[in-house]
Amino acid sequence: MAEAKYISQDKLGKWLDELSQQMQVLAPVQEGEAVVFRPYQTGTEIRLEGQPTLPPKEAVFPASEELFAYTYRKNPEDPAQTDVEIGPRAQPQKTLVFGARPCGSRGFVIFDPVYTQGYYMDPYYRVRRESTIFASVACVSHENSCFCHSVGSGPGDTAGSDILLTPVDNGYVAEAVTDKGGEMLGSSLLEAAGDKAGKARELRDKALKDMGEPRDFTPAREKLLAIFDDLDFWEDVSAKCISCGACTYLCPTCYCFNITDESAGMQGSRIRSWDNCMSFQFTLEASGHNPRPTKAHRLRNRVGHKFSYYPELHQGMIACCGCGRCIKHCPVSVDIREIVIRAMEHQTETGEEAGK
Ligand code: SF4
Ligand code: SF4
Repeated sequence: MAEAKYISQDKLGKWLDELSQQMQVLAPVQEGEAVVFRPYQTGTEIRLEGQPTLPPKEAVFPASEELFAYTYRKNPEDPAQTDVEIGPRAQPQKTLVFGARPCGSRGFVIFDPVYTQGYYMDPYYRVRRESTIFASVACVSHENSCFCHSVGSGPGDTAGSDILLTPVDNGYVAEAVTDKGGEMLGSSLLEAAGDKAGKARELRDKALKDMGEPRDFTPAREKLLAIFDDLDFWEDVSAKCISCGACTYLCPTCYCFNITDESAGMQGSRIRSWDNCMSFQFTLEASGHNPRPTKAHRLRNRVGHKFSYYPELHQGMIACCGCGRCIKHCPVSVDIREIVIRAMEHQTETGEEAGK
């Protein structure tokens, strides 16, 4: 990291005012019972304590977005022929996401291989990702649903962030992780951090230590495959699930979507919206056949994708950042950690104990 800077709490608003003159700033604000990311304006009361209810996923991957508008035009020379005209693609504005937790920013590290590489590169995602900067706040304490340290992350993880802020002495130590982040620390409102940089490091180290011993989830990759056909196991762990989908909508790493056309007369829009693999309709085919007909099949897929199939394709990276949102907000307290641990410890029919 480059030289650490420090900004006192009382100057934070002024810094955000400065930054919001240069780009759109999204920051966590209280909305009813939830803390969500909203555009910052002078005077906005931001909430940097605790984990936001929603991760900043929408900054790069909106819950619903128009991919393009289209118009059908009849060919006057040949009335049987209709041409389609595609409208220009909207260009995203430069955006700063201020105040995400490291787990929220890390979510995009899990999106990136899927959306930015190879044949299926997604231009909508990529252009928004490139125009978004993340200033994350390190956690100096954790909630009992957090397990980031067990999935290759941690309270001071910088993966996915451009700046890491650590709360120290009634202000924040700000450290640049990338060049983009470094450019934002040039404001005269920030001063050299001096000794506070060491304090910030100590606080992050203590926060990690306070989380206790991490659980090794790497064996889950093999073990989840070994019990793939054990539907009794999956029925048992999914028994209380009510298929509401809250876990997928709150998850920083869930990236499935659906595409629909909304049209009126000769004009329309192609819309992409988040989808939810915990829903019966997710895999329902036009024929009426459904390859994942029960919640046992669907939970098996959600857990298997994150802890087995994705790591298999992406150099062992687990597609979960351990934020615990799906645990904290599940109305019936389904706990993904417990399911993976139970899967690793489950006796298969051959008597082999998983997790070894
Ligand atoms: S939030 Fe809980 S109840 Fe709802 S779909 Fe997810 S696991 Fe099932
Ligand atoms: S699966 Fe749960 S704990 Fe993991 S990233 Fe998604 S919401 Fe967070």
